[in-house]
Amino acid sequence: MSNIPYKIYLSEEEMPEYWYNVRADMKNKPAPLINPQTHKPCTAEELEQVFCKELVAQELNETDRKIPIPKEILDFYKMYRPAPLTRAYCLEKKLGTPAKIYYKFEGQNTSGSHKLNSAIAQAYYAKKQGLKGVTTETGAGQWGTAMSMACAYLDLECRVYQVRCSYEQKPQRREVIRTYGGTAIPSPSMETEVGRKINAEFPGCSGSLGCAISEAVEYAVTHEGYRYVLGSVLNQVLLHQSIIGLEAQAAMKKFGIEPDIIIGCAGGGSNLGGLISPFMGEKLRGEKDYRIIAVEPASCPSLTRGVYAYDYCDTGKVCPMQKMYTLGSQFMPSPNHAGGLRYHGMSSILSQLYHDGYMEARSVEQTEVFKAAEFFCRTEGTLPAPESSHAIKAAIDEALKCKETGEEKTILFGLTGTGYFDMKAYEAFNNGTMSDYIPTDEDIRKAVDLIPRFEGNDNF
Ligand SMILES: *Cc1c(COP(=O)(O)O)cnc(C)c1O
Repeated sequence: MSNIPYKIYLSEEEMPEYWYNVRADMKNKPAPLINPQTHKPCTAEELEQVFCKELVAQELNETDRKIPIPKEILDFYKMYRPAPLTRAYCLEKKLGTPAKIYYKFEGQNTSGSHKLNSAIAQAYYAKKQGLKGVTTETGAGQWGTAMSMACAYLDLECRVYQVRCSYEQKPQRREVIRTYGGTAIPSPSMETEVGRKINAEFPGCSGSLGCAISEAVEYAVTHEGYRYVLGSVLNQVLLHQSIIGLEAQAAMKKFGIEPDIIIGCAGGGSNLGGLISPFMGEKLRGEKDYRIIAVEPASCPSLTRGVYAYDYCDTGKVCPMQKMYTLGSQFMPSPNHAGGLRYHGMSSILSQLYHDGYMEARSVEQTEVFKAAEFFCRTEGTLPAPESSHAIKAAIDEALKCKETGEEKTILFGLTGTGYFDMKAYEAFNNGTMSDYIPTDEDIRKAVDLIPRFEGNDNF
């Protein structure tokens, strides 16, 4: 018997009141964003044309370790936080492992994922700046939903350019956005120059994330009172997501639990960055050591098979360029890839940490991921998002290694969301029609060869 509860929650008093900025503890800072034309570091003024002022300050801040969370955001967090830290007893038992497995579940809000943690922060700073609204893109739909929830709370307009095929195939997501008062616009649309151009060139085009980003940015910079918001990759997003790691750390400390291994799925890197930040801080300061594992899909393996270089953040090449592990902005994961995490690049913070050897990365195939998801939902009850299931797969593998060696390691992983809106992907898995596609070296080389080379960016 132990006095540790099955699920560890924090009291109001124990809740974090600041975000943790891991850059303050990094010796090698992530490389700055650069202007895609001049290749010079972006100035705050340049970035403020596209992003909210205060968010730009956070983006560029690499010295303040703690950034206070404004009271309005803390109040919003109270509606769905703390996220529980759960001991996966049933999973451990079923696996027969001596390992102790904990997961931090971020799916307990209507949008169904961790993305709301940053959405509310970004909406708050937009409101504070006196803006009318924000624009953004959404692919699978989680970010658009989260952003519309946050904007509804603060009475801001939210224009979501939803990739046309997702708009048509995921009507539930679209309706959630509309119910919260957001506007979902199928992209490519006829209301931006870039959208009209793509529609003229490729009639009936089903859209892409890159195109939706270009439309959202164009609308924001050509309309008074609007700015663009992004749900992953950026430093500011990892900062907001540090709430995940801070809560997990506080919950574990409360009962003297120390993780040996910390695991998260990696798309653009925001949930993983958020979960590991405070632990990484201890590691960077030499106080503790943890094994940290990023898990990515074998069909979009930016950390494990990409190059470390400056690249475009979007297919449309309108955003600033970022130094990161990348497969090339023109890389498209195979259409049979259903499991999310399709982004070609990676957060520059995580890229730098990985480059410096502070974390590991591995890639997993999607049928293995869905097998792990099925095993998890049948043993632990919760239906996981396909993205989150990448972390589940790695956690199970590590727990099985412990079974072989008899080591009682403590594993912590991030369960980023629920799978309710991904039943199409589960259907393919259940029907046995899901397959794996691993890009060949040539597929990757082709996209990598399109990364621009210039002085200081030619060694990849
Ligand atoms: C968006 C999303 C991810 C991946 O994004 P990151 O920025 O890499 O965290 C993972 N899980 C869920 C449920 C998501 O919605």
